[in-house]
Amino acid sequence: EVMIRDLSKSFALKGQRLTVLRNLSLDIAPGESLMIVGPSGCGKTTLLRILAGLDVPDSGEVRIDGAPVLGVGTDRAVIFQEPRLLPWLTVLGNVAFGLEVRGVPRTQACERARRYIRLVGLAEFEDAFPRQLSGGMAQRVGIARALTVQPEILLLDEPLGALDAMTKITMQEELARIWREEEVTMVMVTHDLEEAIYLADRVLVLPGDKGAQVALVDIDLPRPRNRNEARFVKYRQ
Ligand code: ATP
Repeated sequence: EVMIRDLSKSFALKGQRLTVLRNLSLDIAPGESLMIVGPSGCGKTTLLRILAGLDVPDSGEVRIDGAPVLGVGTDRAVIFQEPRLLPWLTVLGNVAFGLEVRGVPRTQACERARRYIRLVGLAEFEDAFPRQLSGGMAQRVGIARALTVQPEILLLDEPLGALDAMTKITMQEELARIWREEEVTMVMVTHDLEEAIYLADRVLVLPGDKGAQVALVDIDLPRPRNRNEARFVKYRQ
């Protein structure tokens, strides 16, 4: 369980303080899918970076299963818009890399990596190099790489933002399936409201600088089985 309490963060900007998060409190249940939306510059990435332990808040705290977040941890994996694969390693090498640097023996690392490469549908490409992959395939490798360390929480910052519309739809369906099968907690920043509704248990709307309140929208399950139904999901505030 993720507990966010009274989180505030500001930056120095042209001699002024720019407050991006103000007393944000929120609990995220294990296995929940939370989508973060809001206008550009409202602090979505900042919040995700704080959850990842890549940034520290000015005040307030984040606890995961009771323990304060102090830097990056193996319980969390982060996926960015660009997967930044290592060009000199194959797909298998890239996915196994995170385990190998953690000291998992090579054969064991590859075995586990193969399981996640299969999960994202790239079994035939395990020996391919990053330059031989399309954008969507590269991002799938990034997702497999993140899942291979078996995190409790998957933090995604616009993971599908750089993909073309058709690939994006396929990947949204894939993310929904992976989230269900892996029972991982998913916290994801997106600009795409339909994507947010499709993938979310709850949508966190950050207000930006216009002073509006933070809003949490509960998506009324049952989860849509296909995308057309997503448009007709009822929600309440
Ligand atoms: P977008 O949707 O455009 O990606 P966002 O909601 O993710 O935006 P953040 O990246 O969290 O927004 O940034 C929020 C604000 O904080 C922005 O105005 C940004 O300029 C500022 N900011 C973020 N990081 C820093 C930093 N390290 N130093 C100074 N200002 C920063």
